[in-house]
Amino acid sequence: MDEVRNLIIIGSGPAGYTAAVYAARANLKPLIIEGVQSGGALMTTTEVENFPGFPDGVMGPELMDSMRKQAERFGAEFLTDDVTSVELVDTGRPGSEATHAVRVGETVYRAKAVILSTGSAWRPLGVPGEQEFLGHGVSSCATCDGFFFRNQHIVVVGGGDSAMEEATFLTKFAETVTIIHRRHEFRASKIMADRALANEKIRVEWNSIVEEVLGDDGKVTGVRLLNTHTGETKVLDVTGVFVAIGHDPRSELFRGQVELDADGYVKVDAPTTHTSVPGVFAAGDVVDHTYRQAITAAGTGCAAALDAERFLATLE
Ligand code: FAD
Repeated sequence: MDEVRNLIIIGSGPAGYTAAVYAARANLKPLIIEGVQSGGALMTTTEVENFPGFPDGVMGPELMDSMRKQAERFGAEFLTDDVTSVELVDTGRPGSEATHAVRVGETVYRAKAVILSTGSAWRPLGVPGEQEFLGHGVSSCATCDGFFFRNQHIVVVGGGDSAMEEATFLTKFAETVTIIHRRHEFRASKIMADRALANEKIRVEWNSIVEEVLGDDGKVTGVRLLNTHTGETKVLDVTGVFVAIGHDPRSELFRGQVELDADGYVKVDAPTTHTSVPGVFAAGDVVDHTYRQAITAAGTGCAAALDAERFLATLE
Protein backbone atom coordinates (compact mmCIF):
# COMPACT_ATOMS: atom_id res chain seq x y z
CA MET A 1 0.00 0.00 0.00
CA ASP A 2 1.29 3.47 -0.89
CA GLU A 3 2.02 5.96 1.85
CA VAL A 4 -1.23 7.60 3.02
CA ARG A 5 -0.79 11.28 3.77
CA ASN A 6 -3.00 13.45 5.89
CA LEU A 7 -3.49 16.15 3.31
CA ILE A 8 -2.73 16.95 -0.31
CA ILE A 9 -3.22 20.52 -1.53
CA ILE A 10 -3.63 20.93 -5.29
CA GLY A 11 -2.55 24.37 -6.53
CA SER A 12 -0.04 26.95 -5.35
CA GLY A 13 -1.71 30.35 -5.57
CA PRO A 14 -2.56 32.40 -2.46
CA ALA A 15 -5.26 29.83 -1.55
CA GLY A 16 -2.98 26.78 -1.80
CA TYR A 17 0.03 28.37 -0.10
CA THR A 18 -2.06 29.82 2.75
CA ALA A 19 -3.68 26.42 3.29
CA ALA A 20 -0.14 25.00 3.30
CA VAL A 21 1.05 27.44 6.00
CA TYR A 22 -1.87 26.58 8.28
CA ALA A 23 -1.76 22.83 7.64
CA ALA A 24 2.01 22.66 8.09
CA ARG A 25 1.83 24.60 11.36
CA ALA A 26 -0.86 22.13 12.52
CA ASN A 27 1.71 19.36 11.94
CA LEU A 28 -0.28 17.78 9.10
CA LYS A 29 2.83 17.60 6.86
CA PRO A 30 0.86 18.54 3.75
CA LEU A 31 2.03 17.75 0.23
CA ILE A 32 1.40 20.68 -2.11
CA ILE A 33 1.20 19.68 -5.74
CA GLU A 34 1.91 23.09 -7.13
CA GLY A 35 1.30 22.80 -10.83
CA VAL A 36 4.02 23.26 -13.42
CA GLN A 37 3.41 27.00 -13.18
CA SER A 38 3.86 27.32 -9.46
CA GLY A 39 2.83 30.45 -7.57
CA GLY A 40 -0.48 31.02 -9.37
CA ALA A 41 -1.94 34.08 -11.04
CA LEU A 42 0.16 36.67 -9.20
CA MET A 43 3.30 35.32 -10.87
CA THR A 44 2.06 37.06 -14.02
CA THR A 45 1.72 40.49 -12.49
CA THR A 46 4.03 43.23 -11.30
CA GLU A 47 3.05 45.41 -8.34
CA VAL A 48 0.39 44.24 -5.89
CA GLU A 49 -0.78 47.22 -3.84
CA ASN A 50 -3.79 45.79 -2.03
CA PHE A 51 -2.43 42.81 -0.11
CA PRO A 52 -2.45 43.91 3.55
CA GLY A 53 0.91 44.19 5.27
CA PHE A 54 2.82 45.78 2.40
CA PRO A 55 2.44 49.57 2.72
CA ASP A 56 4.76 50.15 -0.25
CA GLY A 57 3.28 47.36 -2.36
CA VAL A 58 5.00 44.11 -3.27
CA MET A 59 5.83 42.44 -6.58
CA GLY A 60 3.49 39.50 -7.29
CA PRO A 61 6.27 36.86 -7.65
CA GLU A 62 7.98 38.12 -4.49
CA LEU A 63 4.74 37.81 -2.50
CA MET A 64 4.22 34.25 -3.73
CA ASP A 65 7.81 33.28 -3.04
CA SER A 66 7.43 34.53 0.55
CA MET A 67 4.22 32.53 1.03
CA ARG A 68 5.97 29.39 -0.25
CA LYS A 69 8.96 29.90 2.06
CA GLN A 70 6.63 30.45 5.00
CA ALA A 71 4.92 27.10 4.38
CA GLU A 72 8.27 25.38 3.80
CA ARG A 73 9.56 26.64 7.13
CA PHE A 74 6.85 24.65 8.92
CA GLY A 75 7.48 21.43 7.03
CA ALA A 76 5.26 21.60 3.94
CA GLU A 77 6.46 19.39 1.08
CA PHE A 78 6.23 20.57 -2.53
CA LEU A 79 5.95 18.89 -5.88
CA THR A 80 6.16 21.20 -8.88
CA ASP A 81 4.08 19.26 -11.35
CA ASP A 82 0.52 19.08 -12.70
CA VAL A 83 -2.06 16.72 -11.27
CA THR A 84 -3.37 14.66 -14.18
CA SER A 85 -6.37 12.98 -12.54
CA VAL A 86 -8.03 12.50 -9.19
CA GLU A 87 -10.28 9.93 -7.56
CA LEU A 88 -12.12 11.58 -4.71
CA VAL A 89 -14.03 9.24 -2.42
CA ASP A 90 -15.84 9.53 0.90
CA THR A 91 -13.10 9.27 3.53
CA GLY A 92 -15.37 10.60 6.24
CA ARG A 93 -16.35 7.47 8.16
CA PRO A 94 -14.23 6.91 11.27
CA GLY A 95 -12.17 3.77 10.82
CA SER A 96 -12.64 3.88 7.04
CA GLU A 97 -9.65 2.72 4.98
CA ALA A 98 -10.77 4.82 2.00
CA THR A 99 -8.28 7.33 0.64
CA HIS A 100 -8.34 9.93 -2.10
CA ALA A 101 -6.03 9.25 -5.02
CA VAL A 102 -4.23 12.13 -6.74
CA ARG A 103 -2.27 11.17 -9.85
CA VAL A 104 0.66 12.92 -11.41
CA GLY A 105 1.27 10.92 -14.55
CA GLU A 106 1.96 7.35 -13.45
CA THR A 107 2.55 8.22 -9.79
CA VAL A 108 -0.35 7.99 -7.33
CA TYR A 109 -0.40 10.03 -4.12
CA ARG A 110 -2.92 9.06 -1.46
CA ALA A 111 -4.43 11.17 1.31
CA LYS A 112 -7.29 11.27 3.78
CA ALA A 113 -8.07 14.88 2.91
CA VAL A 114 -7.58 17.00 -0.21
CA ILE A 115 -7.85 20.74 -0.78
CA LEU A 116 -8.69 21.88 -4.30
CA SER A 117 -7.20 25.30 -5.06
CA THR A 118 -6.52 25.35 -8.79
CA GLY A 119 -7.78 28.90 -9.38
CA SER A 120 -9.40 30.25 -12.51
CA ALA A 121 -8.24 31.66 -15.80
CA TRP A 122 -9.49 34.86 -17.37
CA ARG A 123 -10.55 34.52 -20.98
CA PRO A 124 -8.14 36.43 -23.20
CA LEU A 125 -9.15 38.20 -26.42
CA GLY A 126 -6.41 36.38 -28.29
CA VAL A 127 -5.38 39.39 -30.36
CA PRO A 128 -1.90 40.69 -31.18
CA GLY A 129 -0.45 42.91 -28.47
CA GLU A 130 -2.61 41.53 -25.65
CA GLN A 131 -0.01 39.21 -24.08
CA GLU A 132 2.85 41.56 -24.92
CA PHE A 133 1.33 44.41 -22.90
CA LEU A 134 -0.18 42.31 -20.10
CA GLY A 135 0.60 44.16 -16.88
CA HIS A 136 1.74 47.18 -18.90
CA GLY A 137 -1.66 48.57 -19.84
CA VAL A 138 -3.59 45.36 -20.45
CA SER A 139 -5.39 44.03 -17.36
CA SER A 140 -8.00 41.45 -16.44
CA CYS A 141 -8.85 42.95 -13.05
CA ALA A 142 -10.27 46.43 -12.46
CA THR A 143 -10.18 46.07 -8.66
CA CYS A 144 -6.48 45.20 -8.86
CA ASP A 145 -5.30 47.73 -11.42
CA GLY A 146 -7.85 50.55 -11.69
CA PHE A 147 -5.83 52.76 -9.40
CA PHE A 148 -2.95 52.85 -11.91
CA PHE A 149 -5.15 54.53 -14.56
CA ARG A 150 -5.98 57.83 -12.87
CA ASN A 151 -7.03 60.56 -15.35
CA GLN A 152 -6.39 58.30 -18.33
CA HIS A 153 -8.51 57.19 -21.29
CA ILE A 154 -9.18 53.47 -21.18
CA VAL A 155 -11.37 50.75 -22.69
CA VAL A 156 -13.26 47.82 -21.19
CA VAL A 157 -13.95 44.93 -23.55
CA GLY A 158 -17.11 42.91 -22.89
CA GLY A 159 -20.87 43.20 -22.53
CA GLY A 160 -21.84 41.16 -19.46
CA ASP A 161 -22.39 42.13 -15.83
CA SER A 162 -18.65 41.96 -15.05
CA ALA A 163 -17.83 44.35 -17.88
CA MET A 164 -20.50 46.81 -16.65
CA GLU A 165 -19.28 46.56 -13.09
CA GLU A 166 -15.64 47.02 -14.08
CA ALA A 167 -16.45 49.95 -16.39
CA THR A 168 -18.51 51.71 -13.71
CA PHE A 169 -15.82 51.09 -11.07
CA LEU A 170 -13.08 52.37 -13.38
CA THR A 171 -14.82 55.74 -13.77
CA LYS A 172 -13.61 56.49 -10.23
CA PHE A 173 -10.12 56.81 -11.69
CA ALA A 174 -10.17 57.17 -15.45
CA GLU A 175 -11.00 60.29 -17.47
CA THR A 176 -13.11 58.26 -19.90
CA VAL A 177 -14.06 54.60 -20.15
CA THR A 178 -15.12 53.23 -23.52
CA ILE A 179 -16.90 49.87 -23.50
CA ILE A 180 -16.15 47.84 -26.61
CA HIS A 181 -18.93 45.40 -27.34
CA ARG A 182 -19.27 43.07 -30.29
CA ARG A 183 -23.07 43.21 -30.41
CA HIS A 184 -25.62 46.01 -30.58
CA GLU A 185 -26.91 45.39 -27.05
CA PHE A 186 -25.39 44.24 -23.77
CA ARG A 187 -25.83 40.76 -22.34
CA ALA A 188 -25.62 42.33 -18.86
CA SER A 189 -28.68 42.66 -16.62
CA LYS A 190 -30.71 45.77 -17.35
CA ILE A 191 -29.93 47.40 -14.01
CA MET A 192 -26.17 47.02 -14.48
CA ALA A 193 -26.28 48.16 -18.11
CA ASP A 194 -28.47 51.16 -17.28
CA ARG A 195 -26.13 52.20 -14.49
CA ALA A 196 -23.14 52.07 -16.82
CA LEU A 197 -24.91 53.88 -19.66
CA ALA A 198 -26.07 56.65 -17.31
CA ASN A 199 -22.48 57.39 -16.26
CA GLU A 200 -21.22 60.45 -18.10
CA LYS A 201 -17.65 59.15 -18.27
CA ILE A 202 -18.75 55.98 -20.09
CA ARG A 203 -19.22 55.70 -23.84
CA VAL A 204 -19.80 52.63 -25.98
CA GLU A 205 -18.44 51.33 -29.28
CA TRP A 206 -21.20 48.93 -30.40
CA ASN A 207 -20.70 46.12 -32.94
CA SER A 208 -16.97 46.41 -32.47
CA ILE A 209 -14.13 44.03 -31.78
CA VAL A 210 -10.55 44.73 -30.81
CA GLU A 211 -8.25 43.65 -33.64
CA GLU A 212 -5.00 44.65 -31.99
CA VAL A 213 -3.64 46.26 -28.85
CA LEU A 214 -1.16 48.89 -29.96
CA GLY A 215 1.81 50.06 -27.95
CA ASP A 216 5.12 51.72 -27.89
CA ASP A 217 8.08 51.63 -25.55
CA GLY A 218 6.51 48.83 -23.47
CA LYS A 219 3.22 50.67 -22.87
CA VAL A 220 -0.23 50.59 -24.43
CA THR A 221 -1.00 53.53 -26.71
CA GLY A 222 -4.28 52.42 -28.27
CA VAL A 223 -6.54 49.75 -29.71
CA ARG A 224 -7.48 49.13 -33.32
CA LEU A 225 -11.19 48.38 -33.60
CA LEU A 226 -13.13 46.70 -36.37
CA ASN A 227 -16.79 47.61 -36.75
CA THR A 228 -18.31 44.29 -37.76
CA HIS A 229 -21.32 46.00 -39.40
CA THR A 230 -19.56 48.57 -41.54
CA GLY A 231 -16.20 46.79 -41.92
CA GLU A 232 -14.45 50.03 -40.96
CA THR A 233 -11.43 50.09 -38.70
CA LYS A 234 -10.31 52.88 -36.41
CA VAL A 235 -7.77 53.49 -33.70
CA LEU A 236 -8.79 54.65 -30.21
CA ASP A 237 -5.98 56.37 -28.36
CA VAL A 238 -6.08 54.78 -24.91
CA THR A 239 -3.51 53.75 -22.30
CA GLY A 240 -5.49 50.97 -20.64
CA VAL A 241 -7.33 47.88 -21.89
CA PHE A 242 -9.44 45.92 -19.40
CA VAL A 243 -10.48 42.53 -20.74
CA ALA A 244 -13.80 41.48 -19.16
CA ILE A 245 -15.17 38.69 -21.31
CA GLY A 246 -15.26 36.07 -18.57
CA HIS A 247 -13.31 33.68 -16.37
CA ASP A 248 -13.16 29.89 -16.42
CA PRO A 249 -12.56 27.94 -13.22
CA ARG A 250 -9.81 25.32 -13.54
CA SER A 251 -12.09 22.50 -12.41
CA GLU A 252 -12.01 20.07 -15.34
CA LEU A 253 -10.07 17.55 -13.24
CA PHE A 254 -12.84 17.48 -10.66
CA ARG A 255 -15.84 17.18 -13.00
CA GLY A 256 -17.88 14.12 -12.06
CA GLN A 257 -16.01 13.87 -8.75
CA VAL A 258 -17.36 16.79 -6.73
CA GLU A 259 -20.40 18.95 -7.44
CA LEU A 260 -19.77 21.94 -9.68
CA ASP A 261 -22.17 24.82 -10.34
CA ALA A 262 -23.56 25.63 -13.79
CA ASP A 263 -20.45 27.67 -14.64
CA GLY A 264 -18.06 24.94 -13.50
CA TYR A 265 -17.04 26.45 -10.14
CA VAL A 266 -16.62 23.94 -7.29
CA LYS A 267 -19.63 24.09 -4.98
CA VAL A 268 -18.92 24.45 -1.25
CA ASP A 269 -21.17 24.46 1.76
CA ALA A 270 -20.53 28.17 2.47
CA PRO A 271 -19.33 29.63 4.75
CA THR A 272 -17.29 26.40 5.13
CA THR A 273 -15.04 24.99 2.41
CA HIS A 274 -16.60 21.50 2.45
CA THR A 275 -17.37 20.18 -1.04
CA SER A 276 -19.96 17.52 -1.82
CA VAL A 277 -17.39 14.79 -0.93
CA PRO A 278 -16.41 14.30 2.74
CA GLY A 279 -12.70 14.94 3.12
CA VAL A 280 -12.47 17.21 0.09
CA PHE A 281 -12.30 20.97 0.56
CA ALA A 282 -12.03 23.79 -1.95
CA ALA A 283 -10.72 27.35 -1.74
CA GLY A 284 -9.84 30.39 -3.82
CA ASP A 285 -10.88 31.30 -7.33
CA VAL A 286 -11.89 27.76 -8.32
CA VAL A 287 -14.84 28.37 -5.96
CA ASP A 288 -15.23 32.13 -6.06
CA HIS A 289 -16.58 34.00 -9.07
CA THR A 290 -17.47 37.08 -7.06
CA TYR A 291 -14.41 38.52 -5.32
CA ARG A 292 -11.40 36.94 -7.09
CA GLN A 293 -8.72 38.63 -4.99
CA ALA A 294 -5.47 37.34 -3.54
CA ILE A 295 -6.61 38.13 0.00
CA THR A 296 -9.98 36.40 -0.39
CA ALA A 297 -8.25 33.35 -1.90
CA ALA A 298 -5.79 33.36 1.02
CA GLY A 299 -8.72 33.69 3.46
CA THR A 300 -10.56 30.68 2.09
CA GLY A 301 -7.26 28.77 1.89
CA CYS A 302 -6.90 29.31 5.63
CA ALA A 303 -10.50 28.15 6.17
CA ALA A 304 -9.90 25.02 4.06
CA ALA A 305 -6.85 24.04 6.13
CA LEU A 306 -8.80 24.52 9.37
CA ASP A 307 -11.74 22.52 7.96
CA ALA A 308 -9.35 19.75 6.86
CA GLU A 309 -7.66 19.71 10.27
CA ARG A 310 -11.01 19.35 12.05
CA PHE A 311 -12.12 16.68 9.60
CA LEU A 312 -8.93 14.66 10.17
CA ALA A 313 -9.44 14.92 13.92
CA THR A 314 -12.84 13.21 13.55
CA LEU A 315 -11.13 10.19 11.94
CA GLU A 316 -8.83 9.58 14.90
P1 FAD B 1 -4.30 30.95 -8.54
O1 FAD B 1 -3.45 32.05 -8.03
O2 FAD B 1 -4.85 31.06 -9.92
O3 FAD B 1 -3.45 29.61 -8.42
C1 FAD B 1 -3.92 28.41 -8.93
C2 FAD B 1 -2.82 27.39 -8.88
O4 FAD B 1 -3.31 26.11 -9.25
C3 FAD B 1 -1.64 27.68 -9.81
O5 FAD B 1 -0.46 27.52 -9.09
C4 FAD B 1 -1.75 26.60 -10.88
O6 FAD B 1 -0.48 26.22 -11.41
C5 FAD B 1 -2.34 25.48 -10.06
N1 FAD B 1 -2.97 24.43 -10.86
C6 FAD B 1 -3.92 24.55 -11.82
N2 FAD B 1 -4.18 23.34 -12.37
C7 FAD B 1 -3.39 22.45 -11.69
C8 FAD B 1 -3.18 21.06 -11.79
N3 FAD B 1 -3.82 20.29 -12.69
N4 FAD B 1 -2.29 20.46 -10.97
C9 FAD B 1 -1.61 21.19 -10.05
N5 FAD B 1 -1.76 22.52 -9.91
C10 FAD B 1 -2.64 23.13 -10.73
N6 FAD B 1 -5.51 40.05 -6.81
C11 FAD B 1 -5.26 40.97 -5.85
O7 FAD B 1 -5.75 40.82 -4.74
N7 FAD B 1 -4.46 42.06 -6.11
C12 FAD B 1 -3.87 42.26 -7.31
O8 FAD B 1 -3.16 43.27 -7.52
C13 FAD B 1 -4.09 41.29 -8.33
N8 FAD B 1 -3.52 41.43 -9.56
C14 FAD B 1 -3.72 40.47 -10.49
C15 FAD B 1 -3.07 40.59 -11.72
C16 FAD B 1 -3.23 39.62 -12.69
C17 FAD B 1 -2.52 39.77 -14.02
C18 FAD B 1 -4.08 38.49 -12.44
C19 FAD B 1 -4.28 37.43 -13.50
C20 FAD B 1 -4.75 38.38 -11.23
C21 FAD B 1 -4.57 39.36 -10.25
N9 FAD B 1 -5.21 39.26 -9.01
C22 FAD B 1 -4.95 40.18 -8.04
C23 FAD B 1 -6.13 38.16 -8.70
C24 FAD B 1 -5.42 37.08 -7.89
O9 FAD B 1 -4.20 36.77 -8.52
C25 FAD B 1 -6.29 35.84 -7.77
O10 FAD B 1 -7.53 36.19 -7.20
C26 FAD B 1 -5.61 34.79 -6.90
O11 FAD B 1 -4.31 34.48 -7.40
C27 FAD B 1 -6.43 33.52 -6.80
O12 FAD B 1 -5.73 32.63 -6.01
P2 FAD B 1 -5.95 31.05 -6.11
O13 FAD B 1 -4.98 30.47 -5.16
O14 FAD B 1 -7.37 30.72 -5.99
O15 FAD B 1 -5.55 30.66 -7.62
